[in-house]
Amino acid sequence: MTRVLAITNQKGGVGKTTTTVNLAAGLAGANKRVLLVDLDPQGNATMGSGIEKRMLKETVYHVLLGLSTAANVRVRSESGGYDVLPANRDLAGAEVELVELEHRETRMKQALETFVAQYDFVLIDCPPALNMLTVNALVCADAVMIPMQCEYYALEGLSDLVNTIRRVRQHLNPKLEIEGLLRTMFDPRNTLAQNVSEQLQQHFGDKVYRTVIPRNIRLAEAPSYGVPAVSLDAACKGSQAYVALAWELITRGGAAAVAATAV
Ligand code: ATP
Ligand code: MG
Repeated sequence: MTRVLAITNQKGGVGKTTTTVNLAAGLAGANKRVLLVDLDPQGNATMGSGIEKRMLKETVYHVLLGLSTAANVRVRSESGGYDVLPANRDLAGAEVELVELEHRETRMKQALETFVAQYDFVLIDCPPALNMLTVNALVCADAVMIPMQCEYYALEGLSDLVNTIRRVRQHLNPKLEIEGLLRTMFDPRNTLAQNVSEQLQQHFGDKVYRTVIPRNIRLAEAPSYGVPAVSLDAACKGSQAYVALAWELITRGGAAAVAATAV
């Protein structure tokens, strides 16, 4: 069964793209068939997967607007071992153009409905906004993964995101759930980070992933090589954390499947 995850947080720079790219590579390393969908006009996940965003004739923008198909737009990340629906700045126009169209919230879902069946995991990298692109990702997804830095304002933004998820669940995608909250760029020596981390666990219980992503310079360097850190330097702490996250996801899915057959 395909699992479609939207990696989202409207706060900028919290590690969404780093998570999407390295989790994709981690899952691919565990022999899972993975599709990464870049839904951010910044195209960072595209570049971080080793795909030159300026050279693309067609991107996820064309898929969203019905001008091309996912199969036509798909490219391979050789360095990551997964497929990509890439993005570049063309996608910035989609927000405005979608407003004119019918079923604008469900375009992505319609475009990918049968296509995603070839994959075990589909990871959608969202832009730092609760806009129509993010809504399209939420409508398409089975669940949401929320990367967050454990800092003072982190919890404030979270309530807006949780409300948006609730609204999408009510009106557009009843099966949408929060898969988990991921603590990123974590520095255990920082007392505030520890406090926020504890608050998260109190509020969200086992929705908080056991795996914590440490602050690690290799994760920040890897995009400049167009290679996921997990593929570039499997031994560094950041890569190890993302591989652990991939296994947490795989085994969690397994546990859920067992639970579902038991009832
Ligand atoms: P945006 O909202 O702009 O899309 P984002 O949420 O996708 O940002 P990233 O681009 O993944 O965030 O990360 C922001 C910056 O922090 C990048 O320069 C990235 O390389 C760096 N970074 C991400 N995770 C880590 C980490 N665990 N350790 C060190 N640096 C990191
Ligand atoms: Mg990003």
